[in-house]
Amino acid sequence: MKKPSNFLFLLLISVLLVSCDCKKEETTNAEVKLTEITKPKNIILLIGDGMGLSQVSASQFYNKNATNFERFSTIGLIKTSSSSDLITDSAAGATAFASGIKTYNGAVGVTPDTLDVKTIVEQVSTKGISTGLVSTSAITHATPACFYAHVKSRRMEDNIATQLVNSEIDFFVGGGSKFFNKRKDGKDLTIQLTEKGFEVSTDKLPKNITDKKQAILLSEKGMPTMLEGRGDFLPDATQLALDYLSKNEEGFFLMVEGSQIDWGGHANDADYLISEVLDFDKTLGVVLDFAKQHGETLVIVTADHETGGFALVANDGDYNKIKPVFSTDSHSATMIPVFTEGPGSENFGGIFENTAIYSKMIQLFLE
Ligand code: MG
Ligand code: ZN
Repeated sequence: MKKPSNFLFLLLISVLLVSCDCKKEETTNAEVKLTEITKPKNIILLIGDGMGLSQVSASQFYNKNATNFERFSTIGLIKTSSSSDLITDSAAGATAFASGIKTYNGAVGVTPDTLDVKTIVEQVSTKGISTGLVSTSAITHATPACFYAHVKSRRMEDNIATQLVNSEIDFFVGGGSKFFNKRKDGKDLTIQLTEKGFEVSTDKLPKNITDKKQAILLSEKGMPTMLEGRGDFLPDATQLALDYLSKNEEGFFLMVEGSQIDWGGHANDADYLISEVLDFDKTLGVVLDFAKQHGETLVIVTADHETGGFALVANDGDYNKIKPVFSTDSHSATMIPVFTEGPGSENFGGIFENTAIYSKMIQLFLE
């Protein structure tokens, strides 16, 4: 009699223990996963300069109804006004992303009182995180400049170039070589870049890069347009940046700018604009593929503002034919979409100020 009851008792206990154990393990795993997914090791911020929702929609209608924007799980909207104007420029817009403050149009990394304000690059580089910039404009142009420079006007590009040489940026690629080697002060900053430990490339994207810091300047001012035959510069340069930066176990911050979506808008040139959007969309594919392989990567895609008051309207009343049109050759005030994918992306739904892009990134990186 004693034996069977003992046996049943033990059986009951072990069943309870097993089920109890399972449950505990599940909870623990879930907890671990949650921490993992909310804290990315890497953040990639892609800025389509001047890219509003109609520009994004162009990547659908002019690309066989297939766009990489569809691969993002969380969508939000930002309010983009600057401290001086309802309609921002790219400098105030990028300062909001890089430093989390509203400032006046034209300001690069400074407050409305022209005081320097710390950038995300300056903050995360002290934690051993690598940083990189990729742009189809001059690397000293307003958008990339806001991530490393502090000047009261975006036009001070010689000064901005000097600040890039002395910045914490580990990898940069874009145009703007004339601000380094054809300067008003006659200095050749490519020599200083070499002295600072950079490998400098000025003719093409290097094939095999070393572990040295990389300075890649492939045109005097902006890069050529897509219509002029820029080819796969932006996706290829972005892939190179990812190959380089992902060597750092501590993680990285990368900003990639599709600069000329804005320039197509200013020119009211739909072919120019659409070709730049499609190039940006292709680059999103490169970044999302990387993020899929490296699960600890948060991808954020947004814009500083919309340019051109761009719209996709019915051609001559025919709802089955789209005509791209413009309502201004300047920027517009419309809210701007934010697409996110990867760990931490759940924080980017809803409507918020452009400065919150910065604060959310900093929280995910440092807190
Ligand atoms: Mg720009
Ligand atoms: Zn613009």
